[in-house]
Amino acid sequence: MPKEITIAVIGLGLIGGSILRSLRPNKLRLVGVSRNEETIKKAISLNLLDKGSTDINIIKNADIVFICTPINKVLSTIDEVIKIVSKNCIITDVASLKEFIIDHINNYDFPVNFIGGHPMAGTEHQGIDYALDNLFEGAKWALTPSKWAGISELEKLKEIISYTGANIIICDAQEHDKSVAQISHVPLLLGQALFDFVNSYPEINIRELSLKLAASGFRDTTRLAGTNPELAKDMLIKNKANVKKTVKELKLFLDSLCLELDSNEEEFISHIEKISSQRKLMYSKDGKNIFNS
Ligand code: NAP
Repeated sequence: MPKEITIAVIGLGLIGGSILRSLRPNKLRLVGVSRNEETIKKAISLNLLDKGSTDINIIKNADIVFICTPINKVLSTIDEVIKIVSKNCIITDVASLKEFIIDHINNYDFPVNFIGGHPMAGTEHQGIDYALDNLFEGAKWALTPSKWAGISELEKLKEIISYTGANIIICDAQEHDKSVAQISHVPLLLGQALFDFVNSYPEINIRELSLKLAASGFRDTTRLAGTNPELAKDMLIKNKANVKKTVKELKLFLDSLCLELDSNEEEFISHIEKISSQRKLMYSKDGKNIFNS
């Protein structure tokens, strides 16, 4: 990779800031765009940027652009970016949903060098103050190429992303959205539902006792309920069809597990033993997903 390569990051929040942090040790020119002057000043004072502005035109000479704005701003940002950058510039994003973005790109009547992206790492926090150096270390990073993306562009982007420590998984945008409904969006909804169920339980004595006794199990299963509301809203609403379908399937699955508990305890025990051992195999001691098919 030539030394003078310029990477532009638009949207300097948790994810955009963490991308800058993880790319900083490499010999890359880093340019950043955000809505507020304060965010730019902060990124410069943290030495995360060579150049920053609230004016998107500073990305003009970028070789690769990462769009890290909230999901609801991604399409309008792509439309702006393609008017500014050169034809050879690779454009990617980090949004938690991919199909509506890839559809938008594939419907252009001219080629756009776009490869969708979704780093499978995050926290419930928001903003550059919470950006981390090693957020993507050992994490998966989904890439969903548009119909215009070529092999050499894909290889170039993969190389830059590999500097963050992430492992790349190439997938289809529609399948990606079905999959994240199961592993991200329904867990979010379940965390919200469980927290609200306990927190608003009609029997006051039980409600207060539960909230006093709640420890790490309740904390861990409801962690996602604290997700930044703008992100939570965008994910659940934009992926509504997949979320609803997954909830329906999960309800049936839960019903059959309860039926097993009720009707055949032996079968139920061996079932939950299998679940426990498979769950343990999926993550390393430091919490990284080590599943590879
Ligand atoms: P965030 O911390 O709220 O950051 C978003 C940043 O975008 C804000 O700092 C804001 O900048 C900036 N921004 C908003 N509108 C903009 C615009 N029109 N132009 C330029 N900058 C703009 O949110 P995030 O968690 O990083 O999420 C960003 C993206 O990452 C989303 O697409 C989300 O789906 C994806 N993602 C999030 C997670 C996660 O766990 N959080 C995980 C994977 C992927 P100012 O501060 O200057 O206003």
